[in-house]
Amino acid sequence: MESFLSIQGEGGHQGKTAHFIRLAGCDVGCPWCDVPESWEAADHESRTILDLSKEVQESPAPFVVVTGGEPAMHNLTYLTEAIHEHKRKSHIETSGAYPLSGRWDWICVSPKRFKKPLDSVLVKAHEIKVVIAHRNDLRWAQKFAEAGNETTRYFLQPEWSVVDEVMPQILSFMNEHPKWELSLQIHKYIGLP
Ligand code: SF4
Repeated sequence: MESFLSIQGEGGHQGKTAHFIRLAGCDVGCPWCDVPESWEAADHESRTILDLSKEVQESPAPFVVVTGGEPAMHNLTYLTEAIHEHKRKSHIETSGAYPLSGRWDWICVSPKRFKKPLDSVLVKAHEIKVVIAHRNDLRWAQKFAEAGNETTRYFLQPEWSVVDEVMPQILSFMNEHPKWELSLQIHKYIGLP
């Protein structure tokens, strides 16, 4: 769908320069999705791995974030090979609803109520990041508090359109459950994609 240089605004690599590759196609259907135009893969032009690989080679960023849409709907083996060929780290942002292909240096699983994540993906996560759009989402997030492995980090992230509303509830929940860290979409605060 698009590729661009920005900063990673979320999760464990927040604030670092990153090259993003956003793949089209998603059937998860989050009502608050900030890129619904990504849902229909057929609405976007196909690009070759070679083309994307050249961009990675020219990018100053040390890592590439493959996002979507739901990127795991695609076979990502060749894309991650191309990323590693250019000595960049491969990061993915996925809902966890599909099995993963490819070789990943950082796996962010963001579970969604609307299409449940697979246990086999959750257990590989370097971070589990739950978007909080309503106070009830906090109780739901807690179901994933043990879903990763011994090194997984756990993040709560306010949904952008209701940040002010849910932030006090998130902070209060974090006081009771300090395992969770706060993730803010800092790129949005400074007007970056
Ligand atoms: S999984 Fe991501 S791209 Fe798909 S609907 Fe949810 S927020 Fe949007």
